[in-house]
Amino acid sequence: MKPSLIIHGGAWNIPDESVEDCRAGIQRALETGWKILSSGGAAIDAVTSAIVILEDDSTFDAGFGSHLNSDGHVQLDAILMDGGTLKAGAVAAVERIHNPIRLARSVLEHSDHVMLVAAGAEKFAEEHGIPLCPPEDLIHERERIAWRRCLSDSHAVEHHLGHESGTVGAVALDEHGHLFAGTSTGGTCCKLPGRVGDSPLIGCGCYADAEAGGVSCTGHGEGIMKIVMAKMATDLLHDQRVLLSHRKKAGPLSLAQAVADACIRKLAHRVHTTGGLILLDRQGRPAAAFNTPRMAYGYVEETGKFRIAP
Ligand code: ASP
Repeated sequence: MKPSLIIHGGAWNIPDESVEDCRAGIQRALETGWKILSSGGAAIDAVTSAIVILEDDSTFDAGFGSHLNSDGHVQLDAILMDGGTLKAGAVAAVERIHNPIRLARSVLEHSDHVMLVAAGAEKFAEEHGIPLCPPEDLIHERERIAWRRCLSDSHAVEHHLGHESGTVGAVALDEHGHLFAGTSTGGTCCKLPGRVGDSPLIGCGCYADAEAGGVSCTGHGEGIMKIVMAKMATDLLHDQRVLLSHRKKAGPLSLAQAVADACIRKLAHRVHTTGGLILLDRQGRPAAAFNTPRMAYGYVEETGKFRIAP
């Protein structure tokens, strides 16, 4: 099987001055994931490693540099899903984990549960050799300044350099046909303590089914949850009628792209909000769609060339 990889760094109003940082982050994550896949490595390693790169990059709202909640804390969510077994591992509201995707992987691999939250998730981390960090280690000064401005004024995107989010995600298919998807986020800025969005919820911010495809979402979590967007996408990948209902664009359209577009139309029309998603169909055909001004994403073309947006 030909391996395939697609990655995102969030759908948001990416200002011109952040475009290069986003592109550089996506490039590094693609390089890391593709090195694994192109040398016969496993999709689970490609997804985990690519997401770790993005979590460590303060450009994105995941891991270090995530948005602060209204109490001034970083609370992180992540999920990793195996399209072969439909098993997922997820964590939510963790405050002392540098790379929540690693912890999500540990939940997937070493527990019978799908999701662990807060103190229980951190206890599990300690028991499984994932070090805890002081909560302050996850805070970037830029985000503390933004949070203070929101406190003294009211929450506004202008206090966050004009953007609010940069959740990250990846979907990989390896040469053995294993399909994995993952998503990691700091959630929305100034969220209430304990708020969990779509990102770590199976079927909402992420889904993988090797018989259909793999998906990672980004955007307004409360809206994405209402339409269970990632699962919707994999269900639609079985339905050729999506191509019929799709208005003709220039050139032939893949079913994968028609499905991605259909999900974003649903998000806009049914729950009146914004977001984006990436997906690979079961053969590794990539697609991305969004209704925000920009989305940071990249994938590997059939020729092995990286295609990066914006
Ligand atoms: N979906 C994420 C959340 O609601 C945020 C984002 O993707 O921008 O937590």
